Amino acid sequence: MTAFSLKALLRPHILTLMPYSSARDEYTGKEGVFLDANENPLGPSLSESTAGDSQFNRYPDPHQWAIKQKLAPIKGVRPEQIFLGNGSDEPIDLLVRATCTPGTASGSADSILIMPPTYGMYEVSATINDVAVTKVPLTADFHVDVPAVLAAIDDTTKLIWLCSPNNPSGNRLRSDDIRAVLEAAREKLVIVDEAYIDFSVDQSWTSELDTYPNLVVLQTFSKAWGLAGLRLGMCFASEELIRVLNKIKPPYNISAPTQALALEALDHAADKDTMVREILLERQFLADNLRTIPSVQVIHPSDANFLLVQFTDASGTFAQLIAHQVIVRDRSKVILCDGCLRISVGTRAENERLLDVLRHIDSTTAPKDLPLGTAEVATKPELVSNA
Ligand code: PMP
Repeated sequence: MTAFSLKALLRPHILTLMPYSSARDEYTGKEGVFLDANENPLGPSLSESTAGDSQFNRYPDPHQWAIKQKLAPIKGVRPEQIFLGNGSDEPIDLLVRATCTPGTASGSADSILIMPPTYGMYEVSATINDVAVTKVPLTADFHVDVPAVLAAIDDTTKLIWLCSPNNPSGNRLRSDDIRAVLEAAREKLVIVDEAYIDFSVDQSWTSELDTYPNLVVLQTFSKAWGLAGLRLGMCFASEELIRVLNKIKPPYNISAPTQALALEALDHAADKDTMVREILLERQFLADNLRTIPSVQVIHPSDANFLLVQFTDASGTFAQLIAHQVIVRDRSKVILCDGCLRISVGTRAENERLLDVLRHIDSTTAPKDLPLGTAEVATKPELVSNA
């Protein structure tokens, strides 16, 4: 079996690319008279109380070393194995651009492999870059169809995307299946998107980075950390791949306020864990109550902070929820998600509002002869073990 070679996966011009060298790359000292970056020396156009002593008139650290130093021991990796992006959407795009030569029209293009239903940006990023997408659907119970995935890998495949816990189904993928793909696709990059890992009983795949040079793990500050507005995503991989992502990223991709606030958040990991526990209890509350609603057909087991729920009339329910200003995600037209809405776990008050509206919808639309309380509920050991 051929060993992993990142060089063989990279687009040739990326291999030889001379990256932009920013002012802050060339002089990394903190003290001095900084006349190198065409900044405004007089200060930010903000009130003093807003700006404080954060020097927003200066460019931020292009490599976010302070965050990486603090994050590395928390994640059990080396700082050099971390890339930080403007959301995890940024490394998703950079991975495609680093490895896939575009040109679906010419037929000579590279491709990525995804397993729908899954997070939409893998396909969108590939399509923006004119890169072909091979789709191998998950099985009906939302697990990896390992033989089909292995059969679909060919010479054009550069990236294989796995999402665990998966969006929109919510379940975690089986570790054995992920390992089988990592082992069989040794020459490809296998990305495990762990955006929802904090809500799962699973351990992160970051502990396997030194075993599998072809492994890439994505995480985000947008979910459990409660910092979606900051836009900060984490990518963990071999030092060699992280160097490539750093080479092709925009020079100052993480803003100074984001860096400052993320640094502070890392001191509040215990608060994050407390919030996760509360969200898991709310997920249980939501599932228990949804079960009593007649139009709910299936509640899929969830290892994430949302539930995929099948309704008798998903589009109708979705529209009525909107009319009552309760906004959920309509996934009913997505493969394997027939009739399903994806519902994020809210606060107790938000969840009760959702349930009230659903009960109201049912009471006004349910045919009289529909037996109540017959919803089929997927078995949910996960819901219990996570609580
Ligand atoms: N991966 C998955 C599976 C997601 O669901 C999302 C956002 N919903 C992202 C990545 C992107 O997250 P962000 O860009 O906010 O880090």
